[in-house]
Amino acid sequence: MNTFFKSLMNIFRKPVTTRYPAEKTFIPDDYRGMIGFDENLCIWCRRCEMVCPPGAIVFSQDLEGKQTYHFNRAVCIYCGECVRACPKEGAIYQTGQPAKWAVKEENINNGWNALFDEAIESRAAYAAEKKRRAATKTAAPKEENESKSTD
Ligand code: SF4
Ligand code: SF4
Repeated sequence: MNTFFKSLMNIFRKPVTTRYPAEKTFIPDDYRGMIGFDENLCIWCRRCEMVCPPGAIVFSQDLEGKQTYHFNRAVCIYCGECVRACPKEGAIYQTGQPAKWAVKEENINNGWNALFDEAIESRAAYAAEKKRRAATKTAAPKEENESKSTD
């Protein structure tokens, strides 16, 4: 009877949850929010990627060594570890803004995992290319000297 009465009273009570996103939610002053990135300040050390617990950050690299930052807000747990680890103030930062409540399906699972793997492979390809170019560079003067001595 008591339970029935309590349930009945709930009909007249205000809802305890907010109708997000129609209603704005309360955001505390120290709310970390979304992660922002400024490529003009970044020194591309990849520390943010290394410390990120769920793997929400990854850097890809082209064969000339240029790196590109990738971030998945659906994977991020907003812990702030990347910001704490960054040696360059402002390169990666907490915006204080709430994360978007909807993301494209491909950004959540398979799409991100594939991008992550490709990024790691792109770095391996760059490292191999760098090695190859260095080997060609050191071999060139040697070949030059050998051809001079046989002249
Ligand atoms: S806030 Fe945490 S989970 Fe999100 S990108 Fe930074 S280190 Fe990764
Ligand atoms: S830790 Fe900072 S400087 Fe290093 S790659 Fe990440 S954002 Fe750039």
